Amino acid sequence: MTELAAVPVTALKGVGAAMQEKLTKVGLENLQDVLFHLPLRYQDRTRIVPIGSLRPGQDAVVEGTVTGADIAMGKRRSLLVRLNDGTGTLSLRFYHFSNAQKEGLKRGTHLRCYGEVRPGSSGLEIYHPEYRALSGETQIAVEQTLTPIYPTTEGLTQQRLRQLSELALARLGPHSLPDWLPEELAKEYQLGPLAEAIRYLHRPPADADIEELAEGRHWAQHRLAFEELLTHQLSLQRLRESVRAQQAPQLPVASKLPAQFLHNLGFEPTGAQKRVGAEIAYDLAQDEPMLRLVQGDVGSGKTVVAAFAALQALEAGYQVALMAPTEILAEQHFINFSKWLQPLGLEVAWLAGKLKGKARAAALEQIASGAPMVVGTHALFQDEVKFHKLALVIIDEQHRFGVQQRLALRKKGVDARLCPHQLIMTATPIPRTLAMSAYADLDTSILDELPPGRTPVNTVLIADSRRIEVIERVRTACNEGRQAYWVCTLIEESEELTCQAAETTFEDLAAALGGLNVGLIHGRMKPAEKAAIMDQFKQGALQLLVATTVIEVGVDVPNASLMIIENPERLGLAQLHQLRGRVGRGSAASHCVLLYHPPLSQLGRERLGIMRETCDGFLIAEKDLEIRGPGEMLGTRQTGLLQFKVADLMRDADLLPAVRDASMSLLQQWPQHVSPLLDRWLRHGQQYGQV
Ligand code: ADP
Ligand code: MG
Repeated sequence: MTELAAVPVTALKGVGAAMQEKLTKVGLENLQDVLFHLPLRYQDRTRIVPIGSLRPGQDAVVEGTVTGADIAMGKRRSLLVRLNDGTGTLSLRFYHFSNAQKEGLKRGTHLRCYGEVRPGSSGLEIYHPEYRALSGETQIAVEQTLTPIYPTTEGLTQQRLRQLSELALARLGPHSLPDWLPEELAKEYQLGPLAEAIRYLHRPPADADIEELAEGRHWAQHRLAFEELLTHQLSLQRLRESVRAQQAPQLPVASKLPAQFLHNLGFEPTGAQKRVGAEIAYDLAQDEPMLRLVQGDVGSGKTVVAAFAALQALEAGYQVALMAPTEILAEQHFINFSKWLQPLGLEVAWLAGKLKGKARAAALEQIASGAPMVVGTHALFQDEVKFHKLALVIIDEQHRFGVQQRLALRKKGVDARLCPHQLIMTATPIPRTLAMSAYADLDTSILDELPPGRTPVNTVLIADSRRIEVIERVRTACNEGRQAYWVCTLIEESEELTCQAAETTFEDLAAALGGLNVGLIHGRMKPAEKAAIMDQFKQGALQLLVATTVIEVGVDVPNASLMIIENPERLGLAQLHQLRGRVGRGSAASHCVLLYHPPLSQLGRERLGIMRETCDGFLIAEKDLEIRGPGEMLGTRQTGLLQFKVADLMRDADLLPAVRDASMSLLQQWPQHVSPLLDRWLRHGQQYGQV
């Protein structure tokens, strides 16, 4: 039997050029792809549910006799069909219907319907059910398996996808779909056979536990998740190997510049900064590219560590690029690095997407002619940016960048031969196992010590009905010479609404706090305006800064010691932790008020409770993981970090250590299995293992 990976979809009955095009859109080119295109969820059409036992929210097949069909007027005209099966009555509601349809739903008609049951004005209702009239004698069978619902695209129906998977399943056998997990490994990690898992997930039997499937706890899902995570791990390891195989500029450990820098700095590096600095210094002195991730909690002093790394490259006469995910953060770095490097006689260049025209041309020229330090946003990695002698790339807050972006960097090296070293800094506390998987291509250093003199932020939860008290508290703090942030959180994923809300809050607070200087900063303002506001806040000219979460990363004003966060329940814990890290940077006791909108859900209460109890980012991450369990902690949706078909990094976190071990074994003992696995899972635009 031919391998299904080698059989194009056009080999299936009824798949012509037009259909092939649609299938390509969802990544289906061959029969293996069809089999790995797994259902998102299932419907149970295997049994007929008595109307009397229906519950709202249930998707169900019901059968009964039409007892009446009327036009209901209400807000919108609709056809209301009453259906009775002897156990109860249900209404079918149609907002769109033809006359013929109405005729076909006459009193006395016997119907089988499928749809979601909801409470309506006439009791339980199904809106626009799928239905068919049953003619007395012939029995129509119910489905034998759960009905799969596949991810799809326009013009590709579920029915069509079901047919295709049916045809592909008919050809599924041990030879047509090789199992690349060697038996030894399958046994060791108790993973069932691949073909069986695939078959099960496409057509779960009628007695399958639909909830277990929905939660991804079935063995067949584990089997595939394992393979997918394994493949991901392998691809990262390949990526790492391919980077390591390149040459990097060897940068001798520096002495002159660091000594001057340290002299001007005004503080002594922490033990952790020294240790991590030494790890980096060692890597940079090698002739293979460094790939290092520095994880350090908010405020642990990552920027200074980055500066030491930069000096090593600069002293050797090379260029350094520092990239940050947002303009505001990049600007902050630009200011810091200018302050630090100019006294050492080193020029700092600036490039961001918003820089246009002459200024942009000048910046590009400056970079191409060898400005030693270049700071900017991802604009730095556009094709038109040519570096002169780039030896080190520093990326701040890596969680916002994908592997793809990391890849683009390598092409910016000194010349085609030399690949720059990479230093990635993140404050996102990621539990260890997750970090191992998400950053398998990187070495990790941890900054586990805060600079001395920090006081932990005292966090309290206050309901927004006590807003006036909180405003008074802000007044008192500001009158005592301290500064405060008032943070407005995201409204329904809309930046525009959020900025508007921030504007309103700003006006209200400015009015309520007459006599205090109140500023506003949000993402819709021009960079120059933002910079001016930040500057005024830094200088102390503004006492209260009303902000959206644009201040989440990097903003550093040690005199700010009070933060109010409105509707903290809207944010993830990691984000709250980041925000809160903006205070507690000076020696004054700092406070954070979580001004929530009651009632809080049980979960919401627990999560905010964690914020009150601890300031340790790693602990917060672990707890969040515990409480949310299967969830979106890594926020793959927001970050675009990793997209899996079956696996869920959080849900399947417990598989990760085994996945890592298995990937080592596979690489050593079965290297020929690696490419087919990559091909199976990562073919579409994300095969970062091959460069
Ligand atoms: P993050 O790790 O969150 O990026 P930063 O690099 O912004 O932290 O540092 C936070 C603040 O701590 C800055 O004001 C920085 O100057 C200061 N800082 C960093 N290292 C030390 C240190 N060893 N001693 C005292 N202050 C430090
Ligand atoms: Mg930082």
